[in-house]
Amino acid sequence: MNENDRLCLLIVDEVEDNRKEFKKIFPDDYEILEAVNEQTADKLINENNFDSVIADLKFIAHLKDNKKISDVPLVAIVDPNDENAGEMAIEIGAFEIVTKPFNQTIVAYRVQNVIKHFEDLRKIRAIKDGKISELHKYIEIDPLTGLMNRETFYKRASNLMQENIEIKYYVIYFDISCFKAINDLFQIETGNLILKTAANYFNKSIKNGLCSRIEADHFVICVPQANFDIEKLIIGLDRAVRSLNITHNVLFYAGIYPVSNPALPVDQMCDRANMALRKIKGNYMNRYAYYDAGMRELMLQDHMIVRDMEAALNENQFAIFLQPVYNIVKNSIESAEALVRWFHPANGMISPGKFIPVFERNGFIVKVDRFVWEEVCKFINNQREETGDVLPISVNVSRLNFYNLDLLEFLLGLLEKYDLEPWMLKLEITESAYMDNSHQLMSIIRVFREEGFPVLMDDFGSGYSSLNMLKNLPVDVLKVDMAFVRELEESERAYMILKFIMNLAHNLGMDVVVEGVETQKQLDYLVNLGADKIQGYFFSRPLPVNDFKKLLEKSKEK
Ligand code: C2E
Ligand code: CA
Ligand code: CA
Repeated sequence: MNENDRLCLLIVDEVEDNRKEFKKIFPDDYEILEAVNEQTADKLINENNFDSVIADLKFIAHLKDNKKISDVPLVAIVDPNDENAGEMAIEIGAFEIVTKPFNQTIVAYRVQNVIKHFEDLRKIRAIKDGKISELHKYIEIDPLTGLMNRETFYKRASNLMQENIEIKYYVIYFDISCFKAINDLFQIETGNLILKTAANYFNKSIKNGLCSRIEADHFVICVPQANFDIEKLIIGLDRAVRSLNITHNVLFYAGIYPVSNPALPVDQMCDRANMALRKIKGNYMNRYAYYDAGMRELMLQDHMIVRDMEAALNENQFAIFLQPVYNIVKNSIESAEALVRWFHPANGMISPGKFIPVFERNGFIVKVDRFVWEEVCKFINNQREETGDVLPISVNVSRLNFYNLDLLEFLLGLLEKYDLEPWMLKLEITESAYMDNSHQLMSIIRVFREEGFPVLMDDFGSGYSSLNMLKNLPVDVLKVDMAFVRELEESERAYMILKFIMNLAHNLGMDVVVEGVETQKQLDYLVNLGADKIQGYFFSRPLPVNDFKKLLEKSKEK
């Protein structure tokens, strides 16, 4: 190509008509030079950069030796009456042939095609050679921000760390809060502007390290640990973006992986940094966090839980345990709470503290809760058949259940199937669900109570419930959170608050169950306060169903 960016062709042919014909084929954006013999051809080749040379067959062998055009496709002009001409042209170095007289369409097509083909070859070779050509740059760099892209970052960061084994590095993953919202609220250009601004800031402030935009609004840097100040970097980023005067609060969050083994694949280092990041995302106080090995463990555990949960339900790996609630005035068991357990074939018993939060995130809790409710109904029914007595049992109703329109129908269906009445099945709904205070939830709870199900507010006092609200909430029983009991012995305040809660509850006609009682001393305090219903390890841990039955029998004998 010559300076003026037009494609440039050379036609070498002694017959003037052929040259004229040829020139007519190509539109104006081609520059076409002519030569009538080898000498003029060589001279022109020397002075110009051709994209293709089209020559009569008899010049091909000579032109093939010209080093200046070793990288340029040669097209031979052959006589259609000469049977072997085409084959010979290829043999001596032409890349394509055209025949006389010229068919305009075919000639144009063939010449353009070889030029394109050679261009592609040059690109491929450039990639293979690792040459820093324009093309190479294009492939390595994120066009929006000019930072290196993901693959390049992986490669270069790996080289950097392995070539400087004596230096300790961080791999740090950055994310922007609410970037999606910004893209929704403003034009896409605003989002792009933020990304470019951040990229500039990274470029300017990262010395001896690498920065990359690895996707969307995620940046990763690799920097030496020595003298690196993450707070300064985050403040700088925030400030740079704030200077754009976007009315939305844009905040940068960072997860930091201190590299211990430089041979670990960089994508895994990024994953770990990202894991640390996820811990603090959306948290205004903590803008960065360090990775630790425990996170990986937790992540693997969560993966296992999600992987195995469906099979667990199908293969009956879930079971209920029952923990008695004692009436200390009457000295008897007056109900029990059903708590789910998972007996994993490889990992043994898993406690609900580990899997319930995962199920609440992915929605599986709804299936598990329904399973538990049915097990409880079976138990009550079975117990009634064996002893003639009914012990009401309370079950946990995760908030997610309320999104299912058939919740009430399902519960009533269970009652019918096992011939039970609603008072036998108590529903525990956590305080935090009430605090959402959605009208919909409140009205569903009212309907449950109208149907006759007792409703308990679980973990009362763990959240932000105001005592004032209590009088408007549809509950029959408050389950006082364990944290209160923990504090009873140390804090006069906890004692006073609990006393107040119990008075208020009783005045409002609610029952109170105190959870988590472990010691005689705690029990004494509670007796003093007038508490009568107690659930806790002091009396019994949650028990397998058969053990619970034995406990029941024993307590009746007394
Ligand atoms: P929760 O509903 O508040 O249940 C009480 C938890 O406290 C149970 O833990 C119980 O074993 C424990 N606990 C009882 N007395 C004491 C005590 O004296 N000291 C101590 N330290 N702990 C005591 P668990 O069984 O591990 O259950 C933990 C949580 O998992 C439950 O808290 C509940 O939120 C959830 N959960 C358990 N089973 C189910 C279920 O079937 N469905 C749903 N949605 N959640 C469940
Ligand atoms: Ca509960
Ligand atoms: Ca509780």
